[in-house]
Amino acid sequence: MSIHYPKTIENLIQQFSKLPGVGRKTAERYVFHIMKQSPGQIKLLAKDLNNIFDGFKICQKCSAFSEKEICPICSDDKRQENLICIIANFQDMSSIENTKQYNGKYFILNGLVNTIENIGPEKLNIKKLVKHINELIKKNGKIEMILALSPTIEGETTSLYLKRILKSPKIKISKLAQGLSTGMSLEYVDETTLSNALKYRNELK
Ligand SMILES: [Zn+2]
Repeated sequence: MSIHYPKTIENLIQQFSKLPGVGRKTAERYVFHIMKQSPGQIKLLAKDLNNIFDGFKICQKCSAFSEKEICPICSDDKRQENLICIIANFQDMSSIENTKQYNGKYFILNGLVNTIENIGPEKLNIKKLVKHINELIKKNGKIEMILALSPTIEGETTSLYLKRILKSPKIKISKLAQGLSTGMSLEYVDETTLSNALKYRNELK
């Protein structure tokens, strides 16, 4: 006979089961682990979850999560402003920063074009990107844009789309070098591979 948990516990297990890579068993483990913590600790966790949307802003330039209107990377004038790395998600920024090879700026698309899930370019930060790129060109003349998107169908579709709409003699568009396994999400790529993929990036013509 399967055990029926009290409703409050069951609800929490179901919430945890929605997290990526977390199945029912792991969700149960998390919930029972939390229940062993002190009431103060649990209240702190609940408070942090509750405050999650009040505690950050979206950077006006690159769309990163930030405590200020402009994130620390966009406000760092030691970083190259005419080099911009286009990434799908905020987490990809930390993968690239960890390589310690990159000294340009970023732009976050907030996803990838995905025809199966009905995510078209209009659902991504493309308008903001185009505006941002135009401002950069006005200020710097020529710029280089690195498409650092996962080597998946969605990543390729998005790259092709961006290449098409941003074609300009003032924009050099390059793409991470081969060597990343096809189908692999960028967040799982190790630092050395990612570092080489950045270093030996290919220009898209
Ligand atoms: Zn920023």
